[in-house]
Amino acid sequence: MKVIGLTGGIASGKSTVSQYLREKGAAVLDADAIAHALAEPGGSIYCAYRSHFGDGILQSDGSLDRAAIGKIVFADPAEKEWLDKAAHPLIQAEIERQLAVEKQREVPLIVLDVPLLFEAGWDKMTEENCLVDVSEMVQLKRLMQRDGYDEQAARARMAAQMPLEEKRRRADRLIDNNGDLPATLRQVDRLWKEWTHDGFSQ
Ligand code: ADP
Repeated sequence: MKVIGLTGGIASGKSTVSQYLREKGAAVLDADAIAHALAEPGGSIYCAYRSHFGDGILQSDGSLDRAAIGKIVFADPAEKEWLDKAAHPLIQAEIERQLAVEKQREVPLIVLDVPLLFEAGWDKMTEENCLVDVSEMVQLKRLMQRDGYDEQAARARMAAQMPLEEKRRRADRLIDNNGDLPATLRQVDRLWKEWTHDGFSQ
């Protein structure tokens, strides 16, 4: 079975496509959800943060106080650097563990759903990488609609990411999500056939 990386800029339609792939039977490993779970009490990110920053970053119920951590790293670039580096290998280890579990199952396709696929270097864990692609205008419109941002706030969020042009260059496959939803899902159907019926096996 193939392992595919799925990525896209903010509001490009990545969640829409990954949800459809899930419905078709793919095992989708969601990097954001994994990171979130590891930051729950007892998780590896939780333990790393707690031993580095101390109990001052815990709320009264024992969970991480994200605002307190935010204050620390905002005030100290060295702490920010530590934070950025600390979570990455922990998330990677968990993705690798879940990949090994999924490979034992009879799933037709494994999808790594990672917003920062290229930035984090996780495109090297996959056989093909697929970008959900939209024009800047469509991205802006959908982001404003979905999250209720004004144009300036939406543009600031888009500018904080790796340019889509760079992602396009690095992706093996593009899903054009500028059209309506059925047009996008038809492209996913075609890719699904290729990914699951090309005789490739690991
Ligand atoms: P991402 O996960 O990349 O941030 P989403 O899948 O949440 O993006 O899509 C962003 C917004 O655009 C959502 O409100 C979604 O319903 C909408 N959307 C996605 N694809 C289409 C499409 N082809 N036509 C119209 N709206 C779409």
